Amino acid sequence: MTRTIFVTTALPYANGSFHIGHIMEYIQADIWVRAMRMSGHTVHFVGADDAHGAPIMLKAEKEGITPEELVRRIANERPIYLNGFHIKFDHWHCTHSPENEALSGDIYLALKKNNLISKRTIEQFYDPVKGMFLPDRYIKGECPKCHAKDQYGDSCEVCSAVYAPTELINPYSTLSNATPVLKTSEHFFFNLSDPRCVQFLHEWTQGSSKFGYKHLQNEVLGKTKEWLGESIENNNLNDWDISRDAPYFGIEIPGEPGKYFYVWLDAPVGYLASLKAYCDKKGIDFNALLDPEGDTEQIHFIGKDITYFHALFWPAMLKFSGRKTPDQLNAHGFITVSGEKMSKSRGTGISPLRYLELGMNPEWMRYYIAAKLNAKVEDVDFNPEDFIARVNADLIGKYINIASRAANFISRHFEGKLAYSGSTDEMLTEISTLVDSVSKDLEAREYSRAIRTLMAYADTVNQAFDQAAPWVLAKGISTASEDTKAQLQDICSRAIAGFKALSVVLSPVLPALAERIASELFGINRTFVWGDAMDLPQTIAPFKHLMQRVDATQVDALLEPPAPAVETPKPGGEEIAETIKIDDFAKIDLRIAKIVECNHVEGSDKLLQLTLDVGEGHYRNVFSGIKSMYKPEDLVGKLTVMVANLAPRKMKFGISEGMVLAASHADEKANPGIYVLEPFPGAQPGMRVR
Ligand SMILES: [Zn+2]
Repeated sequence: MTRTIFVTTALPYANGSFHIGHIMEYIQADIWVRAMRMSGHTVHFVGADDAHGAPIMLKAEKEGITPEELVRRIANERPIYLNGFHIKFDHWHCTHSPENEALSGDIYLALKKNNLISKRTIEQFYDPVKGMFLPDRYIKGECPKCHAKDQYGDSCEVCSAVYAPTELINPYSTLSNATPVLKTSEHFFFNLSDPRCVQFLHEWTQGSSKFGYKHLQNEVLGKTKEWLGESIENNNLNDWDISRDAPYFGIEIPGEPGKYFYVWLDAPVGYLASLKAYCDKKGIDFNALLDPEGDTEQIHFIGKDITYFHALFWPAMLKFSGRKTPDQLNAHGFITVSGEKMSKSRGTGISPLRYLELGMNPEWMRYYIAAKLNAKVEDVDFNPEDFIARVNADLIGKYINIASRAANFISRHFEGKLAYSGSTDEMLTEISTLVDSVSKDLEAREYSRAIRTLMAYADTVNQAFDQAAPWVLAKGISTASEDTKAQLQDICSRAIAGFKALSVVLSPVLPALAERIASELFGINRTFVWGDAMDLPQTIAPFKHLMQRVDATQVDALLEPPAPAVETPKPGGEEIAETIKIDDFAKIDLRIAKIVECNHVEGSDKLLQLTLDVGEGHYRNVFSGIKSMYKPEDLVGKLTVMVANLAPRKMKFGISEGMVLAASHADEKANPGIYVLEPFPGAQPGMRVR
């Protein structure tokens, strides 16, 4: 039966770059999605940036930019990581979007209609020095439950308790270190302690999806039991404060000016918003897809630190706004490095960007993470020696080497043709067992077991090959009997069939390699499906180098703490150019230009086409590599500065009659972003810039 599955990963907060924990989660989900697609299921895999909340507002304020600009800058660097690690979302969206505003408002209004929203005047911490109500994350103090020190105002990282900041013992503002004072304000609450919610959550958390699997892993269920309490009357749930006062970067609550949704309300709604935007793009009926009685499965991959939000708030919000509830939450643990929790301040951990910059193969990391992950909520440890051993000894030594050894005999002596003498039944049974076991384990997220199974199969293939000693037969093969030739061909063909089967079952983990193997060695110009493993190959193209071994010095470089900042930082990442005379500068005719029209350039992911008015009585056509930062509609009507006497340049898409000025960092990979210049008000098109 073909299934339709809606898959998400947790939305990363858009105030910083991805860390290796994000990448691990995306790899976990990406492998799962690819495996499900190999079974013929339809999967919609979406992500988004979580853009709202006080931290982004305060960070943007500090940098002197708008929150939208900060979020866009972060969004612009996401593809470097996602493409770099072969993580293929169908769509990447943002919670600061019209879809999310509409859906969050709808859900809120439905909850309100259901009498699950209440308004209460609360006393809230206020920073008397900074002059604002303090977001939970900017208040620290002692956990009221376990008494751990320096815990945030909303939840405890030690015991996972969730509480109100006013419950903290000895609180202080992390913005000013001042002791916060209590001030009253009117807030909106989602009545999670309502008996209807409690009853539903008792059932949902312990329940199974109608598709036959449990909603929660046992460890997560254990946690929710603590949070829910033993009975509906005797529950431990608090109503949830879902509003924040201005100033706040978020979605204004419908009909309540100056009140905004708390970021954690609209963040998970961002899953739906991203899917909605994707559906609109693809012409899929969003409402039908997420019909509460329909057959779409909704599966969320998350980290263990956000289970409270996803196992309680999220299903209850969806249920009581009349929407489809999630079918499964898959929580994973954290990633540690040599047994230590990563710390930015100590400079420990693995930077995914550094990994890519060092030219390390992303599929090594995908393989290693797969080899360590299971379906439990356990931490995954990155151990450098273990990483090298698994890549070099297992991935290359056991798997890749099968092909390099066997294919050479076939190319040299049999013109690339494979032939099997005798019965292949036993081999096909083995392959069928392998595919069955690995595909089931991948679906159950038991990746490490799948890897163990397929490496055991690689051992079997290698042993059979070694035992048959084809190199002995190959000596003097040109003068050997037909029987000996057939024997050599059979030994190598069986090894290659084994290699092909391994490539098929590894393809969710190693998608780029599998694609190369499919097309370059076996002439299959599509991604593998499970059935390809059973289809014994009849030819193989000459073997090409498939994968490099990992070098210990690369791993050392990866784990090296980042170099301290250089003494004389270069402004914008590059030295100031050599001195020129005023006459040199005067040669460049800079003019104020009005952007009259702006369009996408078909076939280019970098360029925008600008129609500029420089006051000449006719317009100029200019191509500019600023598409990553601006939408055409953002630019139309704006003034900018252009080089007006630059020789026209013929480009692939047409003639460019000048150049628009824009700022960027020298190292665009590490500091992406390109910013068009805009004059102060009063400047007119055609004015010279001198
Ligand atoms: Zn605690």
